[in-house]
Amino acid sequence: MTKTQALKLWKNASWTELAKEAHDMRIQIHGKKNVSYTVFRIINYTNICKIACSFCSFKNTKPYTLSLKEIRKEALKAKKQGASAIFFQGGVNPGISLDYYLSALELLNKELGFPVRAFSPVELFHMAKGSKISLPRLLQKLKAAGLSSVPGAGAEIMTAKMRRILAPRKLSAKQWCGVMRECHNQGLKSSANIVIGSTEGPEDIIEHLNYIRETGGFQSFIPWVFQPQTSNFPIRHVPGVEYIKLVALCRLFFHNIPNIEVSVLGMGKALGELALYAGANDISSVVLEERVMRSQGVSSVSEAEEFIRGAGFNPVRRGINY
Ligand code: SF4
Repeated sequence: MTKTQALKLWKNASWTELAKEAHDMRIQIHGKKNVSYTVFRIINYTNICKIACSFCSFKNTKPYTLSLKEIRKEALKAKKQGASAIFFQGGVNPGISLDYYLSALELLNKELGFPVRAFSPVELFHMAKGSKISLPRLLQKLKAAGLSSVPGAGAEIMTAKMRRILAPRKLSAKQWCGVMRECHNQGLKSSANIVIGSTEGPEDIIEHLNYIRETGGFQSFIPWVFQPQTSNFPIRHVPGVEYIKLVALCRLFFHNIPNIEVSVLGMGKALGELALYAGANDISSVVLEERVMRSQGVSSVSEAEEFIRGAGFNPVRRGINY
């Protein structure tokens, strides 16, 4: 599908048409029975970040950086709860040394046996700069210490117009895609996403999807909407049918991304179920101890499996890297 075709579909096709096409494509790739999910625990190692994005929830909390002892405690708790992996993420904190990151990865992966997904592109970019080493060298070190995949977080919508509105101090599209490309070169797995619901137009959405498709190498893609509590730039209500149309378009547009995830945590169960008939094949994750949005999501393995069965599919628990 070309960008022009995608734009035309986004503007003119009905959501039901797109959903049907996308569901057919999902069946060709994944069959019609299975829907996958994973179970992980997020450890936010610091909430200090010099980038200061307007929508970041970190800025409303008391500043902290976890010690290795505290990270161990959290990880052991996660093990008891049945987490399959740790999602280790924080901010761009100039007070943290490379040794800290390497020790934390060794602790989580080598010692406690967790697969670790960690560090968004903006964290990696500034970590390399702060440690005065090249990005490839940094990624080699992190990988040797136990990093297996990176979240494609912080992309939102990467057109210059939307970056100015949403997060002017974050990485540009060129920088973000460059970091992810290098992660893939180094054999790290990853996901990517889009967040809609501000003043983006159809062109911004398609341009963003195209940046991701051109970068290539992602295992999965997750469409999101901005949460209503975001207050530093205009937020609009995203109708359910627009969200479903986006899920469907992503499935049809990304010939090079096998998995389209719907975040039941962010979107709720009703839309989540519909998305599974519009191209999505995965409900993202059961996030243990995710307090912020728990009321909407699934917070245990049994709830995830019940939800998937209730939607008419067979639940399959996967690892963090599929
Ligand atoms: S870069 Fe990430 S952690 Fe830092 S302020 Fe922005 S959203 Fe928050």
